[in-house]
Amino acid sequence: MSQNDAVRLEVVEFMGKKLNFLDLGKDIAPEIPVYPGHMKTAFWWHKTHEETKFTLGENSKYPYGFGVKGIITCDHTSTHVDAVYHFDPNKSHLSVDKITLKELIAPAAWIDLSFVKGRVHITIDHLKRALDEAQVTLKPGMILLYWTGIEPYSETDPYYYLSQYPGLDKEATTWLLDQGLVNIGTDAASLDTPADIDYPNHTVHAEREVVHTESLVNITKIPRHDNFYVAMFPLKFRGLTGSPVRIFAIWEDE
Ligand SMILES: [Zn+2]
Repeated sequence: MSQNDAVRLEVVEFMGKKLNFLDLGKDIAPEIPVYPGHMKTAFWWHKTHEETKFTLGENSKYPYGFGVKGIITCDHTSTHVDAVYHFDPNKSHLSVDKITLKELIAPAAWIDLSFVKGRVHITIDHLKRALDEAQVTLKPGMILLYWTGIEPYSETDPYYYLSQYPGLDKEATTWLLDQGLVNIGTDAASLDTPADIDYPNHTVHAEREVVHTESLVNITKIPRHDNFYVAMFPLKFRGLTGSPVRIFAIWEDE
């Protein structure tokens, strides 16, 4: 069973309310597919429990020792947010540690674009059809998640997963940002289809200084198309161009 077959939903009591938290993020692990050319993840034992117990010696009554692992990874591994600095070398002041909470925690909506084939552009007409079907009206300050349907291939067929998804064209991504969105998320490895190496999303998001979030899971498991929140938490990597995130859809039952 892949990690994403299990819908990770928990009810958490928070600020006096019972809230549903649905995990929208993948694990970070050596096995997960990475964007072509990006660095893979490696874990190793830096010190095992046995080693530290040996170092502490017989004078220590601590019975277990402590284990510590090393990590090498990429700032764009797994489910992650792209900082504006990722898109434009002149925007080092907009690195991942500078992203504001308003771009990470916001009212959200999700739409289903899985009717668009892989390796083609998602157009404004496609967006309007999906928004209409979901009965969603975009408002300034929102985060939009869109589902392409590619995610189930992530672990079963990584080459397909990394090459056969659609991406917003320049007009569509511009139109979305004109609605005042603060962040856009997708289950695909990029907002830009690999069939278009002009990277219209990365270009427009550089100019408009808007972040986006890639490689989400469980988008279709959110039981309503709007009237929920998305909250994501990148690590505070100083000066880097992205970070893996813990990310949740959050809603209160009616
Ligand atoms: Zn990225």
